[in-house]
Amino acid sequence: MNPETQMQFLYTLRSRGVTDLRVLEAMEKVDRGLFVQGLFADRAYEDRPLSIPCGQTISQPSIVGLMTQALDVRPRDKVLEIGTGSGYQAAILSHLARRVYSVERHRELAIAARKIIDGLGLVNVTVMTSDGSLGLPDQAPFDRILLTAAPEDPPANLLAQLSEGGIMVLPVGQSGAVQTLIKAQKTADGIEYTELCEVRFVPLVEGIAQGA
Ligand code: SAH
Repeated sequence: MNPETQMQFLYTLRSRGVTDLRVLEAMEKVDRGLFVQGLFADRAYEDRPLSIPCGQTISQPSIVGLMTQALDVRPRDKVLEIGTGSGYQAAILSHLARRVYSVERHRELAIAARKIIDGLGLVNVTVMTSDGSLGLPDQAPFDRILLTAAPEDPPANLLAQLSEGGIMVLPVGQSGAVQTLIKAQKTADGIEYTELCEVRFVPLVEGIAQGA
């Protein structure tokens, strides 16, 4: 990414509310162009979602930034991302957390994302083909959980895989309709919810994709 494009990219993030310096630094380190191939490659630095294979999308950079900021990742955290897609969000998380597990129901996407992430030498990220609606019980509990696909309601089994004090950020709502980005924090007394903003994400679909 040339310096001028990068400055513009970071300026847009800040002007849309991404102000956390650690998040901005992590996003500065990860070149979105590597994760957007083919037809849309020349639009990688625009603040818009773009199509990736398997009918999925790489999220809009400012939304990635706002979600990452809301997740408030600390350096010792173990993070679960549901919906690897291109791998862009996982690469950003890798600069903020101790350990990142990212799961994707389309094997083709998981393989492509793993290749890019390995190529960048991000050794603390594990990408897996699996059904994220089940979470990752073997690795639970997680300090942070991020969903980049929308369920209709916050899934109870994923909240159960969150450690006490843990935070989950997720879009909720029906696909095709306006959804709400919410932050769920687990306390000793239960779950506290905060609504963040309106968003539009692909739906969380149960099961591994056919032929994957
Ligand atoms: N975080 C991604 C954005 C991906 S879009 C990025 O940075 O590019 C959401 C992804 O969630 C899609 O790739 C979709 O296939 C995946 N997905 C939907 N339901 C899923 C499920 N149950 N388990 C795992 N992945 C799922």
